[in-house]
Amino acid sequence: MEPLFLSPFFLPKIWGGRKLETVFDYQIPDGKIGECWAISAHPHGLSKIKKGPLAGMPLNEVYQKYPEYFGNPKEKTFPLLTKILDANDSLSVQVHPDNEYAAVHEHELGKTECWYVIQADPGSYLIYGHHAQTKEELVKMIENGDWEHLLRKYPVKTGDFVFVPSGTIHALNKGIMVLETQQSSDTTYRLYDYNRVDEKTGEKRKLHLKQSIDVTTVPSVDPKLNIETEKRGKSTFTTYVKPPISPHFCVWQWQIRDRQELIHQQAAYTLLSVIAGQGTLITNQESYPLKKGDHLILPAGIKNWELNGNLQIIASEPCAE
Ligand code: ZN
Repeated sequence: MEPLFLSPFFLPKIWGGRKLETVFDYQIPDGKIGECWAISAHPHGLSKIKKGPLAGMPLNEVYQKYPEYFGNPKEKTFPLLTKILDANDSLSVQVHPDNEYAAVHEHELGKTECWYVIQADPGSYLIYGHHAQTKEELVKMIENGDWEHLLRKYPVKTGDFVFVPSGTIHALNKGIMVLETQQSSDTTYRLYDYNRVDEKTGEKRKLHLKQSIDVTTVPSVDPKLNIETEKRGKSTFTTYVKPPISPHFCVWQWQIRDRQELIHQQAAYTLLSVIAGQGTLITNQESYPLKKGDHLILPAGIKNWELNGNLQIIASEPCAE
């Protein structure tokens, strides 16, 4: 069984920019490109196998036809989605439902997400959480358009990690580029869009106030992350989230500075995104060059592997619920 290297799907957005080309060297379409769906089996933006015997096949098809690559999972759809986002302007202020609400109203998974900040301009901040103490207060502030008092500003810098559970009001702002690990869902409830008008349609993007109020956690809760870092030789392994704080996925950062042996941790397979450096992946059959911008899945048939070189990797695995 071979590693599944993936070609991303690129999505234009009114808030997007050109950093996916300038920072990651991807060949992207003209215009404002906001999102790179790097490891995606979601029908709204499929990534495809780049090389090897399954070359050209979209990831959802691989998941259906070759379940052995994923350890014959019980989940019907591939549960995770890895993106890179280039916020050249502020995103809409939004909130995502949990699994229960999304199953009833959207017939898909809920969306808990998290961000590793690849780049942030000095002075950058996110919208994260809100100041309302009760649902009534939340509704009133939304009705009055009192965004200044409702929304919480949260400063971020390059290298930060931010966990965004479903029900958290949030928005990326101008000058921030992140690698996002999320549940495979495309349900976003838009609360506020700065009264922007889409250049193409000449219309404001749709808001979803009722759903936003339904799913927002009140009062805001700050998840207490227990970020742990471990040295192995010259390499550094950081655990950002795992259950029970993050019930749907684990996310790690690996800074590889020499040869390291690795195994799957929580699931039968592991998702890897190389965000800096270059090196080699060595399996018991073959070795593969790795460089910044590569995204791949190490399948269940590769039980252990080695990484060698100078690599910064964000890795993730789904967690059984
Ligand atoms: Zn979001």
